[in-house]
Amino acid sequence: MAETIFIGVAWPYANGPLHLGHAAGCYLPADIFARFHRARGNDVLMVSGSDQHGTPITVQAEAEGTTPAEVVRRYHTGFLESWPKLGITWDLFTTTGTENHAQVAHDFFSRLLEQGYIFRDTMQALKCPKCNRFLPDRYVDGTCPYCGDKSARGDGCDNCGKPLNAEELVDPRCRICGTTPALFATEHCFLDLSKFSDRLAEWVARQEHWKPNVITFTKNFIESGLRPRPITRDINWGITVPVPGFESKRIYVWFENVIGYLSASKEWAKAQGEPDLWRKWWSEPARSYYFIGKDNIFFHTLSWPAMLMGYGGLLMPYDVPANEHLTLERRPLSTSRRWAIWLDDFLTRYDADSLRYVLSINMPESADTDFSWQEFVRRNNDELVATYGNFVNRVLSFTAREFDGRVPEPGNLADADKAFLDRASTAFQSVTDHLAHCRFRAAIGEAMTLAQEGNRFLEGRAPWHAIRQNRSDAATSLHTAIQVISALKTMMYPFLPFSSERLHRMLGLDGTLGKNDWAVAPVPAGTPLRSPEPLFKLLEDSVASEELARLRQAARE
Ligand SMILES: [Zn+2]
Ligand SMILES: [Zn+2]
Repeated sequence: MAETIFIGVAWPYANGPLHLGHAAGCYLPADIFARFHRARGNDVLMVSGSDQHGTPITVQAEAEGTTPAEVVRRYHTGFLESWPKLGITWDLFTTTGTENHAQVAHDFFSRLLEQGYIFRDTMQALKCPKCNRFLPDRYVDGTCPYCGDKSARGDGCDNCGKPLNAEELVDPRCRICGTTPALFATEHCFLDLSKFSDRLAEWVARQEHWKPNVITFTKNFIESGLRPRPITRDINWGITVPVPGFESKRIYVWFENVIGYLSASKEWAKAQGEPDLWRKWWSEPARSYYFIGKDNIFFHTLSWPAMLMGYGGLLMPYDVPANEHLTLERRPLSTSRRWAIWLDDFLTRYDADSLRYVLSINMPESADTDFSWQEFVRRNNDELVATYGNFVNRVLSFTAREFDGRVPEPGNLADADKAFLDRASTAFQSVTDHLAHCRFRAAIGEAMTLAQEGNRFLEGRAPWHAIRQNRSDAATSLHTAIQVISALKTMMYPFLPFSSERLHRMLGLDGTLGKNDWAVAPVPAGTPLRSPEPLFKLLEDSVASEELARLRQAARE
């Protein structure tokens, strides 16, 4: 029976273009997972959207001397252009600026308020005496009270991943003018996480399938004590607070953006003409997966689950396969320091599948990993071109030349043929198992190993020699190799969708890939192949040094 799979992916702040770190952190793994499940015939709903609220947007707008709405419009448009180029297949990519989202967020807020999980209280918040304004979240810079990192911001520490309240920062400074802010009384609404402590601890204890880094972070957080957290802000950009007297305040962005997973599901259902269809992905036996970067673990394993418990009747997260960070040439990626490779720019010069391959085989699943230009060129040339592409090309070109472009009729299978076909079927099972458990590096590594073995198989069977004495033997080995290529095309599809589609056509097969076709599909003898073309492009060695120089130049400007 088909499974029902909900895939929620982190909402990117619409305050800058997408870079390789975003792709490796959550968008690529989510897309691989979605493609895999759709190919298995499962019912997938994958949603996300631009996060257009919060201080990351207003800080950027003030820096540019423009409006938050203009910043959001520009970057949201850019996101929409990037996704198809990278091959990210959303069911819906919306924004948090829709009327639908505001309604769903208000409903959520109001229900938690009625149930007593949200309360009002006066707190002391930082205000800049010079700018005469409150300084929520990113309007304050300072030192992290947990790890001592000096570049922490009022909404969290990038260094240790702890979410922060601005008031916790050591040596706080106004982001706008650098003045030391002072505390002033202000009334806010609080989500009372302490009321969920026992239920969350018990629920987290049952999530044995979570990644170790996610479990450890979450358990440590519960053990350090869950406290009420303010979920409104003194700011005028965002979703209004459905509470009298709060007209000049807005809901905190990390309270409402996670509600976006639900509001996007509802928006998608309405667009299908079946407004209640979303319920299928928000109740048993559906399973929900949240693909995020490690900075957002708290919001997805504690805050959002608490909100779901308080609201009631909605599916709890099944897995939160958070990734670690991608570094660039051994340094942290940084938008503000321009130490980044922008996705759009990258994809004007290189193929999406080359990038998807390199980011998948070296995905920061359990530790930070590094992207370097040298490694990119090496893996593209040695692995995609010389291993996988070469295996495919040798087999299809030789078949085109010697067998009139048709899949040859096999004779009796040699032991090597049987062993290779068995090996392909074992690899297929193993790739399936790895993908089902979000082990993406292992999955693509297994598929690439099979491609390597393909080249060894060809050298052992040597159809180019056999053709002169024993045409049937050459036909048999090519027939075998073509079956394995067909299996590889499927195994590689979630990772390398563009080249798998091309290979599908070269194999003379019709239709598009990825819908209910997750199987080792045989290609019958006699099938007319289409003219083979190289699957991947060889890159000049000089590319690495040229690109590195370009990166350094951009970071200096
Ligand atoms: Zn820290
Ligand atoms: Zn100031």
